[in-house]
Amino acid sequence: MSLPNTNTTNTNTHILVFPFPAQGHMIALLDLAHQLSLQGITITILITPKNLPILQPLLTKNPFIQTLVLPFPSHHPSIPAGVENVKDIGNNGNFGIINALIQLSDPITHWFKSHPTPPIAIISDFFLGWTQQLATQLGIPRITFYSSGAFSVCVLTYLMIHLRELYPLDEVSFPHLPKSPVFNRAHLPSAFKKYREEDPLCETVKDGLIANTSSWGAVFNTFDDVETAYLESFKNIVVGHERVWAVGPIQLLGCSNGPAATDRGGASSVSAVDVFSWLDQYSDASSVVYVCFGSQVFLTRGQMEALTKGLEESGVQFIIVVNSETFIPEGFEDRVAGRGFVIKGWAPQVSILSHHAVGGFLTHCGWNSVLEGIVAGVMLFAWPMEADQFINARLLVDDMGVAVKVCEGIDTVPDSAELARCLKGSMSEKVGAMKLRDKALGAVKEGGSSMNDLNSMVKELHALSM
Ligand code: UDP
Repeated sequence: MSLPNTNTTNTNTHILVFPFPAQGHMIALLDLAHQLSLQGITITILITPKNLPILQPLLTKNPFIQTLVLPFPSHHPSIPAGVENVKDIGNNGNFGIINALIQLSDPITHWFKSHPTPPIAIISDFFLGWTQQLATQLGIPRITFYSSGAFSVCVLTYLMIHLRELYPLDEVSFPHLPKSPVFNRAHLPSAFKKYREEDPLCETVKDGLIANTSSWGAVFNTFDDVETAYLESFKNIVVGHERVWAVGPIQLLGCSNGPAATDRGGASSVSAVDVFSWLDQYSDASSVVYVCFGSQVFLTRGQMEALTKGLEESGVQFIIVVNSETFIPEGFEDRVAGRGFVIKGWAPQVSILSHHAVGGFLTHCGWNSVLEGIVAGVMLFAWPMEADQFINARLLVDDMGVAVKVCEGIDTVPDSAELARCLKGSMSEKVGAMKLRDKALGAVKEGGSSMNDLNSMVKELHALSM
């Protein structure tokens, strides 16, 4: 399924990979960097010191990957000292971290100019739009890495380009996109809702997202069968439209020789062996619901009370992942002993989803979780909360019919009885999910759309060094 290992370590195709420090952005780009390295591309990954542990599993597996470790720039007033990753402060931390990282422009330029074989291109996250200008100054092409799906990126880009006219509206329509979607303001991405004209943090975010449309190429963690029409729409708004590659689900490209799925995004708080032996006791396939809301959500006390009540009432077996500081109602773990497993901290999500006993996934609809759920062929229970999640949920629930919505909104307290009813009743309705899973597997096979796009991207990158 993955490309043959052809790393020769001596090609001139040296690429600087610059991930944005949030788990949902980094994990897939690191998997992609690994795949590119296996294709004889020399990779340097730019990282700040506190994010190095996330990289460690990859560096252990792939000694050919270099790192450029630059100190995190003096912290912005909106970011607590010592914080270098959005996971430590939640989605609200994005703007401050985006702005802080701009200060890396000079150190990168210095490194580039003193390097004996400097990179011939930069692949950087779409939250690092300022690297477009940096790449131009260095005289090299930039490829934007989109960790979100093409539908949400089309929406976000349109909102940024037309921000001043659209900002006052309570409802925005996108007549140029497939099915002419309309979203109310509450469901639009945070970069739009949080925009304040006089705030320089917001201006930088907007300018960066618009700058992405001028990049030489764009690579998405998505695949044709799931987003063809949106990928076509995206091509209409970007300069490098002939170099738009959809290479997802990237986790599958790395499945046989990438970092172990248990290590993705950092060390797990529980051993995969313990979780697996717990799951193994459920011989009925697809009988366990996995509950996890990504890396940035901190559920409130009220939300946890309702969620745990719903899980108790549903009678289903479940694994729930919570932040180590999240409130857990008294006695909950005892009451569900034997049928509920609580993970406090980081879970080996991809491994858990791949277990045959897991049949449902209650998710916030972060794009990576969406793809990981699709690959596992599980029933998706959607609780979109913020960022691109409402758009992803629209795709899954309304466009593709592979998910049911059980709640929505970052501050909403779910209805326990309704949640219990959904979890109990819908686990068997996963026919659509299984079909989509087959398509995802097909995309990364030799000759599949994602594998073809990856090969095309690798070819273009090598051609740059000739
Ligand atoms: N993840 C994980 N263990 C956890 C929580 C999250 O491995 O306990 C991974 C998950 O598999 C996914 C990523 O972190 O790859 C979260 O990305 P997503 O886009 O789903 O959500 P975000 O955290 O960006 O909101």
